[in-house]
Parts: sequence; C-alpha cells; structure tokens
Amino acid sequence: MDKIDEFFDDRNRAWCIHCSGVLANMVTTEDHVPTQSFLRKPRPHHLPKVTTCFDCNNGFSKDEQYVGAFLSCVVSGTIDPDKQFNASAASALRKSPALRSMIDQSKTERLTETGEAQIVWMPDRDRVNRVVVKNARGHSFFELGEPMMNDPDIVWTYPIGLLTPEQRAEFEGENEVGGLSVFPEVGSKMMTRIMTGQDLDGSWVIVQDGIYRYEVNFDVGVRVRTVIFDYLATEVFWN
Ligand SMILES: [Zn+2]
Repeated sequence: MDKIDEFFDDRNRAWCIHCSGVLANMVTTEDHVPTQSFLRKPRPHHLPKVTTCFDCNNGFSKDEQYVGAFLSCVVSGTIDPDKQFNASAASALRKSPALRSMIDQSKTERLTETGEAQIVWMPDRDRVNRVVVKNARGHSFFELGEPMMNDPDIVWTYPIGLLTPEQRAEFEGENEVGGLSVFPEVGSKMMTRIMTGQDLDGSWVIVQDGIYRYEVNFDVGVRVRTVIFDYLATEVFWN
C-alpha cells in the first residue's frame, strides 16, 4: 500500500477508539488495521495503523487468533495446520490443540435440499463480531479521523459467495449512483484517496488482493464493509 500523509488536527486523537480511555493516561500501542495476522507474507508496506491503549489491543488478540484460524480452516476445508491457506492460522493451529479442537467441533454436516451431505462451519459469532467491529472502528478512524466509540447499530457478516446476485451488487456498491453526496474532510486520508485513487478499486481500499479489502462510506451515518479472504463479507453501521 502507499503511505498517505494527513493534515488534519489532533483533536480526535486523545482517546482510545475502543474503550474511550484517555490515551495520555495509559500505556499505548500502534495497532494495525486490519488484523495483521490475516494477511499473507510478505505483508504490504504502510499498513493502516491507529494508536490504541495496550489493554484493548492485547484484549483482542485471542479473538483475532480464533477468527483468522477459523476462516482459514473454512477456506482450506480442513483444520490440518499443514493445509492452511493462512500462515498465521497454520502456526496457531499447530501450537494450540485447544484451538484446533474448538474449530473442529464447530464443523457439522447437514443435508442440502437435494439430500446431499454438506459440511458447514458454525463460527463463534461473538468473537467474529468483536473482531469485525474492532477493524471497522480502526478503518473509520484511519480514513476519516472519526472515532466511532458508541456501539454500532448493525453488525452483519455473511459468506460472500452465498449472497444472491442482487445482494452482491448492492454490497459491492454497484447500485450506488452519482458518487459521494458528502465529501470527506480536506486532509483526511479518505479525501487524499479519492483525489489520487491510492490503493482504490472503485470505492474499495485493497489492502491485499484476495485477502482483505474495505470500504468506508459516510453518506448516511458511517458504514464500514470488509471482505476477508474473499470469503466473509462484513458490514458495521453507525447511524
Ligand atoms: Zn482502550
């Protein structure tokens, strides 16, 4: 990815975007958005980063490990560490029999309408949602300088391949007409992206092709969509 400088002031930078704590009073850390372990090595340069408190960042790590490993298992079709699509997932699964067995237990067989057996994986939704919201807060803050500290109004995740063609077109933003109805603040990274096209494909920021992309839309409220591993579509919306 390209580095984007920004020029807006620091008025929103005083708080942790996750717990609203005052950063000046806490141990802080630079947190990558998206979750770094989701990405393929070599990871892109200049990944988006936001400053958060250490406790929040640390508090998400187990959830992030689970979600990365779970999605890698689903995409790879197995919990076998040697057959994983994602290297961090492979090493987490290798190190932790508990994680392997947790994900293995989420795999069940069901019959399709035509009577064929089909494997389905049931995620721990709370953990998936926590990671999706965490990344959405990071994307919003990085792109717009907007800390979204309230609970979101909508958190939605769905396998992108199971969306109907109409749902898919809507999700990808193909039906949105006429460009932006409101413009980002001058100096925000989003404004720079729109002017230069940096890392953009349509309205989507491509972090790593086929691995992670996101879109931040603020026409009405703030809406952050992501696609993880070309498999999971996510949406977080604050009204
Ligand atoms: Zn915090």
